[in-house]
Amino acid sequence: MSDEQSVIPLAIPVVGAAEARNLQSCIDQNFVSSVGPFVSQFEEMVALNTGATAAVATCAGTAGLHAALVAIGVGHGDLVVLPTFTFIASANAISHCGATPWLMDVCEDSWNMDLAQLRREFQNNARRDGSRLVHKPTGRRIAAIMPVYCLGTPIDFDQLNLFSQEWNVPVVVDAAAAIGMRWNDQPLAHAGSLSVISFNGNKTLTSGGGGMVVGRDPELMALVRHLTTTARVGTDYTHDRVGFNYRMTNLQAAVGCAQMERLDELLAAKKRIRENYASAFAEYDIMRGFPDPDGQSTCWLSGLVFESPDAPSVADFSDQLRKRKVEARPFWKPMHLQPPYASSAPRAASLQRSDDLWQRVLTLPCSTNLTDQQQRRVIQTIGEILDQKPLK
Ligand SMILES: *Cc1c(COP(=O)(O)O)cnc(C)c1O
Repeated sequence: MSDEQSVIPLAIPVVGAAEARNLQSCIDQNFVSSVGPFVSQFEEMVALNTGATAAVATCAGTAGLHAALVAIGVGHGDLVVLPTFTFIASANAISHCGATPWLMDVCEDSWNMDLAQLRREFQNNARRDGSRLVHKPTGRRIAAIMPVYCLGTPIDFDQLNLFSQEWNVPVVVDAAAAIGMRWNDQPLAHAGSLSVISFNGNKTLTSGGGGMVVGRDPELMALVRHLTTTARVGTDYTHDRVGFNYRMTNLQAAVGCAQMERLDELLAAKKRIRENYASAFAEYDIMRGFPDPDGQSTCWLSGLVFESPDAPSVADFSDQLRKRKVEARPFWKPMHLQPPYASSAPRAASLQRSDDLWQRVLTLPCSTNLTDQQQRRVIQTIGEILDQKPLK
């Protein structure tokens, strides 16, 4: 099939000879499970990249988030602050601890948690009761804050760390899409107590599936490792608490290591795709590209944001694109609109920006192997659909 006829996918993994070589060596050495050299090699590579003193590989990003929250002390009945505009895995990891998200709105320019609103919410609704930080409306303990680097866009590390100190509340960051991210030359692990990266198949860098918890506190990282490996003590069957079987396999890490070798290339491809869309959409009043306010985003996904009230609906528009063999999808539906969280999760006074934003966002093809020619076809197809009037 020629390129003109084939479907242009949204975000697919790009693997090749290096991944195959590493996988073959797993087979050759019979290290296909959680024992094997690639797991610790992958951990070392990610620790180095993120400025962490240690990294713990997990079978998924969601599993890493769960273990990180348990390690920091989140338990039954607690609240964990979370932006409502995120992927449901963030909220689910909180629920897996028996805790509930306390939902905040996001900023228009970054799609990240609104820290000004967070401050107001704490001033109005949080109270210190000895060592406990209490959410006044529900009487529940506020156990942690979980910001999300939306699409790999950083949040001011200084502000995050300052807030954490001022209120004496730990920060665990959902850094799922943020491998390779830096904020003002500081690497990822310099914000908060723990950060969790995902290597799911649609992320910038993949290990097939998997995640990584990174941090700089050796004791805390040892606890994360302990929790993710069934909390085993010694070499026999003694376990000192309820742990998890969250270890990454050598097969996954083999793919992850090969991908880490060309992380810079993968990040550069994402950035170029983002810039190409932004400059193409600059010609239209009706839409713009995805935000990167400080130019420091890892630009995981790219797409368009409709800006005008008479813009088409993202659902209709993605259908039209799909008919023309361009894969496109609406983006995250906020947590306060999801059945498991709509009535159970406490909310900030306003979630209006998230309410508005999610209905205007469309993700577009942005795999790291997307060619300029394919991207031109995507842009041209969008232009053709917009030229057909009327469109509703
Ligand atoms: C991908 C993603 C996750 C989940 O990671 P998995 O590895 O798929 O479990 C969590 N949070 C966010 C924001 C993500 O984008």
